[in-house]
Amino acid sequence: MALDKRIREVVFNKYNGYCAYCGDKLIKMQIDHIIPQSNFNWCIKNKRDIPEFLNHLNENDVNHIDNLNPSCSICNKAKDTFSLRVFRQELEDQLKRAKKYSRNYRFALKYGQVKETPNPIIFYFEKNSLFPIKKTIN
Ligand SMILES: [Zn+2]
Repeated sequence: MALDKRIREVVFNKYNGYCAYCGDKLIKMQIDHIIPQSNFNWCIKNKRDIPEFLNHLNENDVNHIDNLNPSCSICNKAKDTFSLRVFRQELEDQLKRAKKYSRNYRFALKYGQVKETPNPIIFYFEKNSLFPIKKTIN
């Protein structure tokens, strides 16, 4: 469902024109549903994969402003239909996959061109909002 211009403006301004996930300045914004549209009713009904800050949503709130995040196209495509929890896990698994499948990555690591950090994935909106980190109902 296309969201009207007023809603798009509010979403854009949620993080002052930056992607809620990577923190890049938004050139062309896409709107991400934090609890994905495709699983929304199931998640709400079963109280699964709902970030704590979205506990107040009900089955009619798929397009509630709190469930919408401004996103760059790269993050929006990567998040796809993933919940926040699964998206975070997918990103945290990137290093393992790069090491396993990318010869270029292994050489870059071997020759000190990249340095791995054990930091957990914390999204831009989590660093820059009142929202708590990693709290979900399971
Ligand atoms: Zn992004």
